[in-house]
Amino acid sequence: MNNIDNNIMIETINHLKSSLKELKNLVFYKEEMLNKLILHQRENCKHNWIIDSTDQIDGYKESVNIKYCTICNCTDTTF
Ligand SMILES: [Zn+2]
Repeated sequence: MNNIDNNIMIETINHLKSSLKELKNLVFYKEEMLNKLILHQRENCKHNWIIDSTDQIDGYKESVNIKYCTICNCTDTTF
């Protein structure tokens, strides 16, 4: 490998490292923002809870009841 090829390789590697770091930071930021928004929505929602049953799955005799809010779609596992 000559010097030019080597320089291109090093520049490309450094560019990819830098780009990946920026993308990881962006994903982290967006996940954090999403979680804050979901939490805010749940805390401020005037929940409209309904109990629904999941479809019966092959191999199981009974369906499973789930309780969820029709407005914010959060589920309540405490019932
Ligand atoms: Zn709700």
